[in-house]
Amino acid sequence: MTYDRALPRAERLRMPWARDVALEVAKQHGVCIRPVALKRLDTTTGQSEIIDVPCGATMEAVCPPCAKRNRQLRMAQCREGWHLDHEPAITPDEPNDEQRWLVEFRADMQARRDAAEQAGDDTTDLDAVLAGLDDEINTAGMRGHVLGRTTGKRTRSTRRRQDAPDLPRRKMANTTLGRTFTGSDGKIYRPSLFVTLTLPSYGKVRDGVPVNPGTYDYARAARDALHFSKLVDRFVQNLRRVAGYDVQYFATVEPQKRLAPHLHMAIRGTLPRAEIKQIAAATYHQVWWPPVDQVVFDGEHLPVWQDGAGYLDPDTGELLPTWDEALDQLDADEDAEPLHVIRFGDQVDVKGVLSGTPDADQCIRYLSKYLTKSLGQSLDSGQAQREHAARFVDALRYEPCSPTCANWLRYGIQPKGAKAGMTPGRCRSKAHKPEHLGYAGRRVLVSRKWSNKTLAEHKQDRRTWVLEALGQTGEPIDPHRYVWRPVPAGDANVPPLAVRLLRTVAERQRWRAHMAQLEARAQSQDPSATEGRAA
Ligand SMILES: [Zn+2]
Ligand SMILES: [Zn+2]
Repeated sequence: MTYDRALPRAERLRMPWARDVALEVAKQHGVCIRPVALKRLDTTTGQSEIIDVPCGATMEAVCPPCAKRNRQLRMAQCREGWHLDHEPAITPDEPNDEQRWLVEFRADMQARRDAAEQAGDDTTDLDAVLAGLDDEINTAGMRGHVLGRTTGKRTRSTRRRQDAPDLPRRKMANTTLGRTFTGSDGKIYRPSLFVTLTLPSYGKVRDGVPVNPGTYDYARAARDALHFSKLVDRFVQNLRRVAGYDVQYFATVEPQKRLAPHLHMAIRGTLPRAEIKQIAAATYHQVWWPPVDQVVFDGEHLPVWQDGAGYLDPDTGELLPTWDEALDQLDADEDAEPLHVIRFGDQVDVKGVLSGTPDADQCIRYLSKYLTKSLGQSLDSGQAQREHAARFVDALRYEPCSPTCANWLRYGIQPKGAKAGMTPGRCRSKAHKPEHLGYAGRRVLVSRKWSNKTLAEHKQDRRTWVLEALGQTGEPIDPHRYVWRPVPAGDANVPPLAVRLLRTVAERQRWRAHMAQLEARAQSQDPSATEGRAA
């Protein structure tokens, strides 16, 4: 917030107080307490205005009200799809206004980020905004990434193609629904599964802390965390093959006490418990990346950037191999081994769940338990665990997190999309950060045909939420009308936080009254509408 020294002392002293009250009021109303100020230029009128966007709409680390709201939306979404008894109607999909708006907005943010980078400014905040928007774009029902594929997909030699593991395979039926059973009472039961998958042991642990930190395999733990989402993808592929239908799931990635990610998965339909265990045991993922066992550049002795060329060897002046060249080399090498092979551990928990039972509800609460916190935050850590976390982060420091990671320079390779200013050990990607502990993927994984209905509702909800905060309720949006710019921290045009929060609360109240009016009107015209909603 702006804190003006020119204000009289008494007034300055009052400011924190006003701020605390405003925070309380905002929380009570479920209003975002860490709004992101953005400048919106209206290209029709030429006027610009500072608008607060809820942090939950742009970033992953969200404030408590945004986190709570997200969690509630997720629980509703999970409940809706788990025991579906009809195929969800998936209608693809002219891009709607919201999707166009998001993509436009993202394009603006990307331009802004690139400009900041050119100017040598810190892009951390903007990167976070972009990552959040990418999630948002996917949530809005668009598949893939806005930027698309920038290069053609590499075809790896067949020798290295990952085989389907040796598993039973049923004929594919064109359905997303599981089997049902009829009880002796004639009632139809719709069983589903709740599965928990865990990574292997890296050494003995007590209370989430390695008994012997010296022998605990931090390097493997770090790599497993980095590639965990790929392993989950493989599991789903194998699951569908074995099950013989288009299995749908709602899953969350959460931290164990020992700081390894694990997966809770609500699966629609059922398979024998033994088969799930068999699938988990047979699932693996190979990471075909260049080797990193030899440190080539270290400390002050680092590759040198040359404009128009790339990174050079500081001793010979020769250009280092690019990412693609390094992969070609790997392909050509008959004896090459994958950099890493990741598998699940032996601990596989499979639980049958019937629709509408307290059991099902409990699982849903369990699934979303940690969603309001980041992986590294979810633990009430004592000294020993903080030290464990610090060692984990250390192990992640020089581990390449992706093809674009600055750490590739340490191993004599130019990262994909190399640019000036990259330093090994200083990759900005969130995988290296203590809050993420190697897992930078999504926390909630929902298959496409989970629950069409709630997804629509969910979208509507998110959209309403964002629009509401933007003061655009009810107006159809022309995606080309507004140009968005971030507002630099400390901008004198941004009012103090307390003022902004109270303003949003007032808007929210106005909007609620408006919605109540609309609802009352709709009910008086169509009394059956209420019954439908209550059901
Ligand atoms: Zn927020
Ligand atoms: Zn990295």
